[in-house]
Amino acid sequence: MTIDKTTASFMQSLCLVEIEEDIILPFPVMPDADKELLRSALQAIDQLLTSHQNDYRAWDKAGELPPAFIQEMRDMGMFGLVIPEEYGGLGFNASSYSRALQEVAKFDGAVAVTVGAHSSIGMRGLLLYGTDEQKKKYYPKLVTGEMIAAFCLTEPGAGSDAGSIKTTATKDGDSYLLNGSKLWITNGGIAGFYTVFAKTGPADQKGNITAFIVERSYEGISTGPHEDKMGQRASSTTTVNFDNVRVPASNVIGEVGKGFKVAMGILNSGRSGLGGGTVGAMKTVIGLCTKQAKERSQFGKSISEFGLIKQKVGHMVVECFATESCVTMVAGLVDQEYSDYAVEAAISKVYGSEAMWRTADEGLQIAGGNGFMRDFPYERILRDARIARIYEGTNDILRLFIALTAMNDVSMQLKELSSSLKGVFNDPIKGFGVLSGYARKQASLLTGINREKSRFTKVAPPLRPYAQVFEDGTRDLASAADRILRKHGRQIVEKQFATKRLADIMIDLYVLACTISRVNGLVESQGVDKSTKEMEILQVLARQVGRRVHSNFGKIDDNDDELIKSLADHAFEREGYSWDSI
Ligand SMILES: Cc1cc2nc3c(=O)[nH]c(=O)nc-3n(C[C@H](O)[C@H](O)[C@H](O)COP(=O)(O)OP(=O)(O)OC[C@H]3O[C@@H](n4cnc5c(N)ncnc54)[C@H](O)[C@@H]3O)c2cc1C
Repeated sequence: MTIDKTTASFMQSLCLVEIEEDIILPFPVMPDADKELLRSALQAIDQLLTSHQNDYRAWDKAGELPPAFIQEMRDMGMFGLVIPEEYGGLGFNASSYSRALQEVAKFDGAVAVTVGAHSSIGMRGLLLYGTDEQKKKYYPKLVTGEMIAAFCLTEPGAGSDAGSIKTTATKDGDSYLLNGSKLWITNGGIAGFYTVFAKTGPADQKGNITAFIVERSYEGISTGPHEDKMGQRASSTTTVNFDNVRVPASNVIGEVGKGFKVAMGILNSGRSGLGGGTVGAMKTVIGLCTKQAKERSQFGKSISEFGLIKQKVGHMVVECFATESCVTMVAGLVDQEYSDYAVEAAISKVYGSEAMWRTADEGLQIAGGNGFMRDFPYERILRDARIARIYEGTNDILRLFIALTAMNDVSMQLKELSSSLKGVFNDPIKGFGVLSGYARKQASLLTGINREKSRFTKVAPPLRPYAQVFEDGTRDLASAADRILRKHGRQIVEKQFATKRLADIMIDLYVLACTISRVNGLVESQGVDKSTKEMEILQVLARQVGRRVHSNFGKIDDNDDELIKSLADHAFEREGYSWDSI
């Protein structure tokens, strides 16, 4: 069967009880030629970043990367990772780029975000939607790092609600006049190339946003001081201000008025970079804390021999492997030219950033008091890790996005089912949210549960038990979506507790599917005997996922949501906690 890559999405199909296994099997494998180029790039990255191994702590304290180091990054080609070879870049696809950022993040979070903000988001609008003229003009400066790139969307009044930005771009002849302020812009203070989002329609209306290329050299542009941050302190984060900045109309990226779509396209496409970064940080923590635990003796033996230490390390290994599988899969989807991978990319960001946070936290715990000391890197890694759950879409917003996108598809399906019942029961159905009670009872997604595509048919026999866990989870997902929709109808958008549960089920299932695919590839290529550790990882993950999905599913009808809301409202009313023990 051929897959229509313009519309196919594993997760969206899954919510309609279809396991589109051809999208995720076989697991993406990098061609040898790509591997060769990537390996030499990784070597160069290692060489540069190892030579500064003793500097990252000082740079973190100072809150700045020294200009001489940024020059070294330019010289080694760090800013040309994704720029096409014909312009002197490495032309990395999503898989190679993600792996390269993993390597950078193994060393330092601030360096990784500097490279990531340039390639993942700062210049990605040009890469994805730029005209040939724009590319000819800017690639040569971006590839050398003469121009470092930044992505300017957030404003003081517009964070998660990015559509409400107030920066304006007013047409004036064949140019635009830009006015407004952007906040917390990574690379703000060192960039020469800004991708700026501004309103080209009425200021009091949402939408009508356009993306522009803005050069640092344009008159009227200024940046604030580097923000004093919790983590990734050495990276540049500043305000970027526009005071009647004249931008040629030829600098519009994509279509006028379609800038929100451009922004979302950039963020989706760039997520494999952030995902790679989370894997890099996790690998470093696992390396550091296993060595430290082996060297540390308490109660007459190495603490690495204690069960509670092993428990932490074992879970770190499972989460790192699962994240790596998911991030590699999403990058593979991009490289195979699937168009619809937004939900999958959001899942990789949410899972990766949270797994990295848990790993950094538990790694620090293994190091004990040393972990809390600045002489050791654990506390810096923990501080650096925290932001990944906030920027490039908070994990809360991404959870809503993941579940509501799926629910939208399910509701469409229900609508179709309802329409097909219309003739039979002669029941007027006006659409989702206003389905008559009777039709709602009839129009069930669960009718699809035993369809042909409700099973994994192409996994190797040793993986069948884990495929079974996935298939059972899929049925729970379908039942969950069905029940949530019946219960809340069009009110679903307001029911965030329920939406989050559905998102968590989807995240778990996708990560499991990616890990099944990866281990399946290994079992098929090297045999099950040589894949015992990977099979153990899969076994643990599958059992965890099975338990979590079951628990989330159970909470749809049996939960404390209203009580929790009532307690939150009480705290909001009093603006604090109401009790004391004396
Ligand atoms: C170090 C750093 C670097 C950054 N780099 C960049 C950059 O390069 N370019 C750029 O444009 N931006 C950048 N940002 C901004 C970042 O993307 C935003 O901080 C992020 O989008 C969240 O916006 P906010 O901070 O205004 O939080 P808010 O949107 O105010 O959210 C506050 C809290 O409310 C929650 N929330 C909001 N709306 C809802 C809802 N509907 N339902 C449930 N919960 C909700 C959020 O999840 C969050 O927990 C950076 C931020 C930092 C801290």
